Formats: sequence, C-alpha cells, structure tokens
Amino acid sequence: MTTDDRAYNCGDCSTLNCGKQNSTYPSFCLTESLTGAEMDEVIRIYKEEPQTAAIAVASAEVAAEGYGKWNRAQEIAEFAKRLGAKKVGIASCVGLVKESKQFVAYLYSQGIDNYSVLCKVGAIDKKKIDVPKRKNEHESICNPVLQARILQREKTDLNVIIGLCVGHDSLFIKYSKATVTYLIVKDRVNNHNPAVGLASLVQAKQPT
Ligand code: SF4
Repeated sequence: MTTDDRAYNCGDCSTLNCGKQNSTYPSFCLTESLTGAEMDEVIRIYKEEPQTAAIAVASAEVAAEGYGKWNRAQEIAEFAKRLGAKKVGIASCVGLVKESKQFVAYLYSQGIDNYSVLCKVGAIDKKKIDVPKRKNEHESICNPVLQARILQREKTDLNVIIGLCVGHDSLFIKYSKATVTYLIVKDRVNNHNPAVGLASLVQAKQPT
C-alpha cells in the first residue's frame, strides 16, 4: 500500500490540535469527522457506565496529582486505592520474578492486598497444545489463560501485567475479568522500554 491509496489518520497528523486546541485540524482529522451522535454516545458511556466512569475519574486524578512525581508502580497503587480495589492481581513473567516480588512488597507497604500468578503456572508441556519447542524435554507453556482464571477465582479487582510476552499479554487481557493495567512491558532488547528502540527502526515521514 502506498501513502496515496489509503486514508490518512492520526498516525499522519502533525498538528495534534485535539489535545489543546492551540493549532488547526488537518483536512483528514478524525475529530472533525465525528458525528454529534457518536460524540454524545461516547460522553454518555464515560458518565453513565459506572465502571468506566470510576476508571476515568481515578486515572485522571492519578495523572493530575502524580504528574512527573510518581513512578508507574506508585501510580498503580494510587489508582487501585482510588478505585477501591480490595485485592490486586499480578500476572507476571517468570523472567521478571524479582521485579514482581519487589512490587508485591511495595503494594503491601501501601496496605494493598495482592495475589500473584506466574506465567508457567500449571506446568503444561508445550507438546500438549502443539506449540513449537526449542528442546526435546519438558518445556512449560506460558499460560495466560490460567493466570486470568486463577485471578478471577481470587476475586481480584484490578490485574497488573508484569512483563508477559507479546501475545501472551493479549490472551491475559482477553480472559481477565478484572480491569487490566501494565507495570512492565516486556522488551528483551531495550531493557523493557520499547520506546527506546523505535527511532532506530524507522525514519518517520509525515505527509505535507
Ligand atoms: S488533530 Fe485530528 S488527526 Fe490530528 S491527532 Fe487529533 S484527532 Fe487525529
């Protein structure tokens, strides 16, 4: 696909006028293309759907109060408190168990009950679900479906992902009954900071 035969979108925008309205909207602006009915429906969801309203308010409060001051772990604790979460679930990669234990200790220090499940829980061999193995010996699958089911059994109110692999995180989010947020996004090459690696991959090109 060339740049000429596709619809421009926010990924092509250089004005970002939707943020502060201190510039101009581009000709292809998504904000300007919305109908009044679409806008009204979205606003209704934020105001009238109880869980969505609670998350919207809590996340805005955390952003406002902790901006540039609280790190992500602190923001999650404050978010959980504002949501009234009684128990926080942790879905962790086995490779990040040290960081997971540090987060557990921090949550307890904040008076927040929590429950952790590692990705290898269940110890199901890869051959049982026909996924590729590197060696001809027992290799447990990463098991985000079971992580989600155990946290549902434990009635967690907010689940936190710590370093699940790409795709395993997708399955965890799909099967988690509780709201999900991230503490650590896995990026083995960039010390778990995917933003660092982007610039070297592309030379961004904006339409004129
Ligand atoms: S100004 Fe319009 S096109 Fe640009 S980022 Fe905002 S919504 Fe997207």
